[in-house]
Amino acid sequence: MKRVLITGAAGFLGSHLCDRFIQEGFAVVGMDNLVTGDLRNIEHLFSNKDFDFYHHDVSRFVHVAGKVDYILHFASPASPVDYLKIPIQTLKVGSLGTHNLLGFAKASGARILVASTSEVYGDPQVHPQNEDYWGNVNPVGPRGVYDEAKRFQEAMTMAYHTYHGLETRIVRIFNTYGPRMRLNDGRALPAFIGQALRGEDLTVFGDGSQTRSFCYVDDLVEGVFRLLKSDYAFPVNMGNPEEITIRDFAQEIIGLTGTSQKIVYKPLPQDDPKQRKPDISRAAALLGWKPSVGRKEGLAKTYAYFKSLPEEEWFRPAHRFEA
Ligand code: UDP
Repeated sequence: MKRVLITGAAGFLGSHLCDRFIQEGFAVVGMDNLVTGDLRNIEHLFSNKDFDFYHHDVSRFVHVAGKVDYILHFASPASPVDYLKIPIQTLKVGSLGTHNLLGFAKASGARILVASTSEVYGDPQVHPQNEDYWGNVNPVGPRGVYDEAKRFQEAMTMAYHTYHGLETRIVRIFNTYGPRMRLNDGRALPAFIGQALRGEDLTVFGDGSQTRSFCYVDDLVEGVFRLLKSDYAFPVNMGNPEEITIRDFAQEIIGLTGTSQKIVYKPLPQDDPKQRKPDISRAAALLGWKPSVGRKEGLAKTYAYFKSLPEEEWFRPAHRFEA
């Protein structure tokens, strides 16, 4: 039986990855410091004999007893609102956390896949973004704490590959959504659905002409699974290339939820990327991967999840970080 360590296991993507690897017959070790993760996302796995959990911050020395065959490093705040509240921790988990996990991978002979991001492209001047584009990031702007940590993560991962011969994989994840996102994490989709559920107006930042491309979580998990098994060490974009303006996206949520609320416009945050759309031809060629869940289906599933939460969750105040 193969054993996989998943960091960020109690988070949105991490918890779905735990489910997938358990389904595939792996023993799974989840690790999370629970700053933005939530144990409720993996509660159902605790009774499984093939699942273990460590409450640990990967920015500090990492060790797991017993053999580890694979490591998936998905620990990090991932919403601009989150990483603006805990900027130093965000920098540390992407940099020191990655270094610790690469060191542990080397010591244990494990293959490691790290979660990078479309944010390495910053506010892109190339559209759509392919992996050969070097990006347009403001290192000292508010988003720099996330973007630069992830860029450092890629450089460090590639160095371990080149100089230590470590088996490494890098996935650049574009906006992904689905059940288990935090309703109060500040990102566009949970923000809009939360507002619709509470009977508030939907807050579109700027004039809403900026674009994003939203990928359903199951598609992303499938891509990550395939990439881990591949032999390709350079970065691979994963996302859904169906692009939409944020204004139209808010309209879609209004249609989906049937809310009678309207759109209100708020100031655009500093350095907010104007457009984002993945070129996924590398993932298609290497892995035969492309997303299969369209927005209509994915949004319906996601809305059903948020609606099924106890009503007090809809009104839960923003997370109070203790890290
Ligand atoms: N956004 C918005 N209203 C919100 C939250 C976000 O208009 O309540 C915008 C945000 O300014 C950005 C886009 O939606 O242009 C996507 O933001 P998100 O925080 O989801 O992720 P990003 O892709 O910027 O990392």
